[in-house]
Amino acid sequence: MMETKQFKAESKRLLDMMINSIYTHHEIFLRELLSNASDAIDKIYYKALTDDSLTFDKDSYYIKVAADKENRTLKITDTGIGMTKEELENNLGTIAKSGSLAFKSENEIKDGYDIIGQFGVGFYSAFMVADTVTVISKALGSEEAFKWESKGAEGYTITPCEKDSVGTEIILKIKENTEEENYDEYLEEYRLKSIIKKYSDFIRYPIKMDVTSRKLKEGSEDEYEDVVEEQVINSMVPIWRKNKKELTQEDYDNFYAEKRYGFDKPLKSIHISVDGAVRYNAILYIPEKIPFDYYSPEYEKGLELYSSGVLIMNKCADLLPDYFSFVKGMVDSEDLSLNISREMLQHDRQLKLIAKNITKKIKSELQSLLKNEREKYVEFFNSFGRQLKFGVYSDYGTHKEELQDLLMFYSSKEKKLVTLDEYVSRMPEDQKYIYYAVGESNERIEKLPQTELVSDKGYEILYFTDDIDEFAIKMIMNYKEKEFKSVSSGDLGIEGEEAEKETAAEEEENKELFEAMKTALGDKVKAVRVSKRLKSHPVCLTTDGDVSIEMEKVLSAMPNNQNIKADKVLEINVNHEVFQSLKDAFTNNKEKLNLYTSLLYNQALLIEGLPIEDPVEFTNDICKVMV
Ligand code: ADP
Repeated sequence: MMETKQFKAESKRLLDMMINSIYTHHEIFLRELLSNASDAIDKIYYKALTDDSLTFDKDSYYIKVAADKENRTLKITDTGIGMTKEELENNLGTIAKSGSLAFKSENEIKDGYDIIGQFGVGFYSAFMVADTVTVISKALGSEEAFKWESKGAEGYTITPCEKDSVGTEIILKIKENTEEENYDEYLEEYRLKSIIKKYSDFIRYPIKMDVTSRKLKEGSEDEYEDVVEEQVINSMVPIWRKNKKELTQEDYDNFYAEKRYGFDKPLKSIHISVDGAVRYNAILYIPEKIPFDYYSPEYEKGLELYSSGVLIMNKCADLLPDYFSFVKGMVDSEDLSLNISREMLQHDRQLKLIAKNITKKIKSELQSLLKNEREKYVEFFNSFGRQLKFGVYSDYGTHKEELQDLLMFYSSKEKKLVTLDEYVSRMPEDQKYIYYAVGESNERIEKLPQTELVSDKGYEILYFTDDIDEFAIKMIMNYKEKEFKSVSSGDLGIEGEEAEKETAAEEEENKELFEAMKTALGDKVKAVRVSKRLKSHPVCLTTDGDVSIEMEKVLSAMPNNQNIKADKVLEINVNHEVFQSLKDAFTNNKEKLNLYTSLLYNQALLIEGLPIEDPVEFTNDICKVMV
């Protein structure tokens, strides 16, 4: 009795979604299966080249696609590395990236394309066109072969079977036509040929098919017959060896999809051919969308590395700096040894040269995108700008010069993202600093009392809404000799002499009042002062020293938080009506002064988006004022 095994819960859900997907481009199932076949041949090919005990015969590596209309089957055979029983079980019975489904709810996943995109489960796409999928495989070095079979979500079986040669055979029982879908087309020669041409033309191994054509009968002048001939459908010249002029954007997009670099459309493709001190070809992509695991520790950066056309590593991390970790693609060089180990590769001089070269190229491509295709750049920056800011901050600012011109921040004046260069180039003569304000969102910053004076002066303010922003800027320190200044910092550098004097006089006049308020607040604040920046609001919090309130928030959320605190200053608007009340309370009723001080301090915390230490006390205080 054959045991039917259940798919793991997540796989089953995925399969259900795949089978019922409304995705219209069902044809991509073939691309997915051919890519898998090609990967499997890559593996055995590489082994054969590096392992002397295996014989090497270039002609024995191929993929074959065969349709059988009568039986409604489509068979895809490869001479790749094959799968053992365990591999069949693990690779096809479960999703490799287990847990990833938790990221998305079913509603968010609209179609099969999304499913493949999110989870990299290309194989399951076979169920978009087939009722039954059978996989017969014999792994390299194994005596036995196994058959994996599934009719979809119910489960699958694995049984021993016969297979002569190493490799994999995938048999799809194509679905019957429905009103909406014509599945017959996946059994038609011409249709299969065109799908292969469209998506898999650059696969390095021959994709063979038996093609029928009408030919003149031998010895006859007018009698024709159907002749079946095996043809190679794909051109096999790897895209990176082709002349850029012969390639279209569609070719690059197809290669991106075929290689599963991403399941979006790339925002930009970069084709590099270098024939200098080091020789290499590379095809790089800047993706359009953030991979779902991008900002998680699971994400692995890297490019595929080929040595003279043979894949030697899937994700060569040494080819990309962390700040460009979003770049996808491949590098092929004849200057690299096939047998090179991972450890040796790290120290390889050629590889270092290539990496340096690539980094430069990516930077210049991004710059030209910014200059010539602003909208696309903004789209890119919204996805990966955070990574660039991390790049500025990390390694003690080593890369800040390279990256600072790629940064963008939201501008109070332009109401959109602007570069530092744009900001500085339109600064009025009398403006000394590059001003910024930090907060949770643009809407929230817009309302910050601290921005009042700077805005009133007509100066532009950059809004920092990412937790990394202020840290990155502190690393840059100044841009084109202009220092950065937070609108919440002690000295804004805006006061005229006259105003300075006025503030000092107010400060002196109300010295005792401020001291009493400071005493009431204890060490919650470093000082209570006259505000120079407030216009219509009664209070705000600012900071002395290097650590801002926003930085304190970020630091305290870190796992090994060292309790670093900002030196907070409570600023009072002496032109606000409330100030008179404070003065009255100071002369007549000390208890009231303490109450007002506490209320104002808590208000300032709220405006900053900081938690109130004792919300119950705060609400009681408000009630006290009301009665
Ligand atoms: P992905 O290819 O993105 O890893 P798939 O679901 O398409 O996801 O495939 C899962 C795994 O099954 C592959 O990583 C590979 O190890 C294995 N596999 C699929 N097809 C083949 C094949 N034709 N030959 C050998 N192994 C295969």
